[in-house]
Amino acid sequence: MDRLFLKSVPILELIEEAGYEAYFVGGSVRDYILGRPINDVDIATSATPQEIKRIFPNTADIGIDHGTVLVITDTGTYEITTFRTESGYSDFRRPDAVQFVRSLTEDLQRRDFTMNAMAMDKTGKIIDPFNGKCDLAEKRIITVGNPHERFHEDALRMMRALRFVSQLDFELDQETFDSLKENAQIISEIAVERILVEFEKLVAGSNKIRAFSLLLESGLYQYLPLFSSKKDHLMDLLNLPLHQLKAAEIWSIIMVHTKDQEMEKALRAWKLPLKTIRNVKSTIQLVKKEPSAFDVFQAGHGVTVQAAKVRAALTGGNVSDAEEDAHRRYNELIIKQMSDLAVTGTDLLNWHQEKPGPWVKEYLENILKAVLNEELRNDKEEIKRWLVKCNLS
Ligand code: ATP
Ligand code: MG
Repeated sequence: MDRLFLKSVPILELIEEAGYEAYFVGGSVRDYILGRPINDVDIATSATPQEIKRIFPNTADIGIDHGTVLVITDTGTYEITTFRTESGYSDFRRPDAVQFVRSLTEDLQRRDFTMNAMAMDKTGKIIDPFNGKCDLAEKRIITVGNPHERFHEDALRMMRALRFVSQLDFELDQETFDSLKENAQIISEIAVERILVEFEKLVAGSNKIRAFSLLLESGLYQYLPLFSSKKDHLMDLLNLPLHQLKAAEIWSIIMVHTKDQEMEKALRAWKLPLKTIRNVKSTIQLVKKEPSAFDVFQAGHGVTVQAAKVRAALTGGNVSDAEEDAHRRYNELIIKQMSDLAVTGTDLLNWHQEKPGPWVKEYLENILKAVLNEELRNDKEEIKRWLVKCNLS
């Protein structure tokens, strides 16, 4: 068993000693069988949240309405969720009622795909009532039960299906795909924040080209912010080396032909963090020019590399070569930050006996450009002489 599971076995034992059942469930069991790295383990139990709180002295109610209690121990923190079923789903997204149950199978049945509906006990035995292991072996994503019903219960599952295609390099079962295509429009009932979480995982996955292709083929793209007007551009993406690009680079490619104002609106509609929005905008600006040393300085290392990769991807160039080249260009900059410049605004004010004003910034920028272009050495005396020579003093 994986180290993370072994570390959590005493937690299962404590719950069992109190007279309840406890298992590892969900993504960690799936990834363990696949031999993929495991980041966290989810534990499901027949004990109610109140019963869990009686077993463990130190807990936090992180999602107690849905049955999840955070157990804090000396060895770590563990999310423990009571077996539950869900019913209602009148709005395609949230169950109207959550019921705690004592049966593991009922809990596994509410889960989205067969590969995510397995449990493992403390000895490593797999409990697999829906044949998830077989679907894993055949790299198949298939809903637990009728896909139409399952997507109507929670439309986010359609987006999850595509992110697993990308993440695991799996295919969708035909009936599951047909149903996804038929029900695509109900994804618009889902909060963009939840869609974004899955989309970012899709974009980070190894087979994003296949996932993008299914996003288009199923029609799901039409109901995502901005995408409905971009079918041709999204189709073009399928021919690009997306596997070599990270999330911000892919966002930049998606937005590269979008006008500035519209881009801001679209990225905000996707509820991307402001930091990412700024990053994407700077990257696109740099993609559109042959950057000078000054541009590279202003953009910084991250944006310079991203822009170089995006430009190479869009123009059929070699992405890794472009990345290396951009690293080199940045590293070769004579100065990397304003404080590396041998003169400061105060020096200029002392030399010129003039009132502070916009001229200081302008002069500094001219000096900076000359130094970056290696027309001027980054040396205080030389800069002073240069200013006199250029009539800038
Ligand atoms: P990851 O490795 O990316 O965390 P995961 O499968 O663990 O993938 P989570 O979102 O962490 O995904 O969900 C944990 C488990 O909860 C899933 O494996 C699945 O059993 C269940 N689950 C999550 N979201 C849904 C959903 N929308 N509908 C039904 N079951 C879900
Ligand atoms: Mg998980």
